[in-house]
Amino acid sequence: MKASSIKKYLRPSTIIGRKSTFANAFASALAPHDVYSPELVDAAIRDLGQDPDADLECVYCGREAATWDHVFNRVTKGEFSGHGHRVRNLVPSCRTCNESKGQKPWRDYLDALDPPDKQARIDRMEKFLSSADAQPVGMDDMRHKAHDELERFLEIRKQVFDLMAEADRLAVVIRQKASH
Ligand SMILES: [Zn+2]
Repeated sequence: MKASSIKKYLRPSTIIGRKSTFANAFASALAPHDVYSPELVDAAIRDLGQDPDADLECVYCGREAATWDHVFNRVTKGEFSGHGHRVRNLVPSCRTCNESKGQKPWRDYLDALDPPDKQARIDRMEKFLSSADAQPVGMDDMRHKAHDELERFLEIRKQVFDLMAEADRLAVVIRQKASH
């Protein structure tokens, strides 16, 4: 290690630098979730071509599933995507596929993975996602049904960001004054 590598630690940290974490928290708070229902889950698993009473397999590669992959992320570019913690947004997945897929669209991931029965997997995913329960909540719909609350929610978010920026400006002054 070179002594000069210490440089990256010798700089001020900012509160607004955490903005994306807060933006994600605001977006996630709007995400819908399903109440657990075995019937809902079983129907979804059957649409994926699997037996809900057996050990589930990864929808991407077919190995034993160990996690639930969010097909669509709750947040895209800091805004609420319309998708949430819903049965039709969660698919059985092995850890490797869950991590490798990351933020990629499910279809792009399957294309890149290219399993031998890819087309059958695509067809099953499409069937699973064609259900009315898989459709995202639109921002327009939300604005229509909860206009005042959403406006206030977005105003609060803006205020939080403005206050973070103001605190950063104050921190600069405090550091300057304290160093004299
Ligand atoms: Zn897998």
